[in-house]
Amino acid sequence: MARYTGAVCRLCRREGQKLFLKGERCYTGKCGFDRRSYAPGMHGQGRKKLSEYGVQLREKQKARRYYGVLESQFEKYFEMANKMKGITGENLLTILESRLDNVVYRLGFAMSRPEARQLVTHGHFTVNGKKVNIPSFLVNPGDVIAICEKSRNSAKIKEVVEKTESRIIPKWLDLDRNTLSGKVLTLAQRDDIDLELEEHLIVELYSKN
Ligand code: SF4
Repeated sequence: MARYTGAVCRLCRREGQKLFLKGERCYTGKCGFDRRSYAPGMHGQGRKKLSEYGVQLREKQKARRYYGVLESQFEKYFEMANKMKGITGENLLTILESRLDNVVYRLGFAMSRPEARQLVTHGHFTVNGKKVNIPSFLVNPGDVIAICEKSRNSAKIKEVVEKTESRIIPKWLDLDRNTLSGKVLTLAQRDDIDLELEEHLIVELYSKN
């Protein structure tokens, strides 16, 4: 399945929640969802009762869009989560949070997850001293994510780091602003994740297949 290239604010309106896909704009009065919080399209303002399947599907799409993950990759994450000990839905979120692009965003090295994905792909980050340009790379406790030596002086990176200075860093990560690096202290737990999501509905959806 191809990556979505349309207007991203429509995705937030479709999911009825801010997904923070546009960076700085998401935190200003220009946010498309803040201005029009109803679903896009001709019938967006009409009330439509979703079927049980529809509700489950929307939760899955919301998670997928929030983390910028394609369907096939998302299914793989679900299989991984299902094999892990504990609650499958929470395991799924832990895996999604462990993606390198998400960690880069959480550390304030990018304005949004789509931007983090692009910066990772362009080779601006290292994990434990080695360059990693795979956004889906999964980090582990103890890993150190840093901005590459060469990229630290890039105007773009400097601007982003400045703009995200006030961002609250989740407690499972430890940011060192002096070295522009962050350490993974533990894997993210459900309480650490600020996404409004009923992940059990995703589990129910996949359990039908
Ligand atoms: Fe979503 Fe950001 Fe667009 Fe607001 S500005 S609708 S949060 S992508």
